[in-house]
Amino acid sequence: ILKGEALWSQGFSEPGAGSDLANIVTKGEIDGDHLVVNGQKMWTSIGLYSDYQELLVRVEPGSARHKGLAWVICDMKSPGIEVRPIKIMTNENQVNMVYYDNVRIPLSNMVGKVGDGWKVAMSTLSFERGTGFIGDQLALLEKVQAVIEMARKTRLESGRLAIDDDDIAYRLGRIKADTMAIRAMTLSAISEIQSRGAPGSEASIMKLLMTTTYKALSEVAVEVMGWQFFEYGDHRSTNPWTYQFLYSWVLTIAGGSSEIQREIIADRILNLPRAR
Ligand SMILES: Cc1cc2nc3c(=O)[nH]c(=O)nc-3n(C[C@H](O)[C@H](O)[C@H](O)COP(=O)(O)OP(=O)(O)OC[C@H]3O[C@@H](n4cnc5c(N)ncnc54)[C@H](O)[C@@H]3O)c2cc1C
Repeated sequence: ILKGEALWSQGFSEPGAGSDLANIVTKGEIDGDHLVVNGQKMWTSIGLYSDYQELLVRVEPGSARHKGLAWVICDMKSPGIEVRPIKIMTNENQVNMVYYDNVRIPLSNMVGKVGDGWKVAMSTLSFERGTGFIGDQLALLEKVQAVIEMARKTRLESGRLAIDDDDIAYRLGRIKADTMAIRAMTLSAISEIQSRGAPGSEASIMKLLMTTTYKALSEVAVEVMGWQFFEYGDHRSTNPWTYQFLYSWVLTIAGGSSEIQREIIADRILNLPRAR
C-alpha cells in the first residue's frame, strides 16, 4: 500500500448499511481454511480497478450489530466477484456495486480474529477520515490560491473585480485561514498518531472541517465565475471548477456523512448528552 504498487478499495457500505454500518449482512462462512463470502457491497470507490479490498463481513451466524464481524483482505481477482459501476453526478464511474457469489478467501487473510472486525474497521476509517485526506488537503490550499488569483482577474456583472467585493474577499480570507488551520491539525494528528499508534475520533473534526471548507470554496468559485460555471462537459477536465463544486458534495457523504461526523464529535470528543 505504501509503495502504491497495488490499488485497494474499501468494501464496508451495503444497500442497508451506510451511516449505520453495524447493520451489514454480507456473510462469511468458515469452510476449512477458507472464508466463503456471499452478499453485496455498495458505493465501493475504485472497485472496478482495485487489486485488493478491505472487506467487512458477518462471520458469526446469528450475531448482530458490532459483534461477530471480521475484516478480511479480499483479492479482487477471485472467482465469484462481479463489479458494476454506478454513475454519479460528476458523470464518472468512480463508485461501484460489488457482488460476491461464493468467493473463497483464505482465513490467513483475516486481520485480527473473528469478532475483531468492527475494531479494525474503525481504525482504518479513522485513517481515512484524518490522514487519508492529506492529498485532498494539499490540493485544497492550491485551489484556494487559484480562486484568489481568479478573483483578482475576473470582473463581476457589476464591472468590479471580484476580489474588490467585500463579501467575496472576506469569505476567501476565512477559507484560507481555515485551510491553514486544517493543515496544522493534520500535522499535529500525524505526530500524535506516531506516538499513539492509531488515529482517534479527532479524525472526524478534520474530515468535517475539510469538507465544509471545500464546499465554501467551490461556492465562492461559482460566484466569481458567473455563467461560465454552468459549462460542464462530461469530464472533470472540461471545467475543473464545476467538477470541484460537484465533488464538494461527494465529500460530505463519502467516508461517513457530515451529520455522522458531528455526532462522533458531540459524543466522543465533547461528551455531550446523547439525544437517543
Ligand atoms: C462518492 C462516494 C464514495 C464512497 N466510497 C465508499 C467506499 O469506497 N467504500 C465504502 O464502504 N463506502 C463508500 N461510500 C459510502 C458512504 O460511506 C455512505 O454513502 C455514507 O456512509 C452514507 O451512507 P448511506 O449512503 O447509506 O446514507 P444513509 O446512511 O442512508 O444516510 C442518509 C442521510 O441521513 C443522514 N443520517 C443517517 N443517520 C443519521 C444519524 N444517526 N444522525 C443524523 N443524520 C443521519 C445521513 O447523514 C445522510 O444525510 C461512498 C459514498 C460516496 C457517495
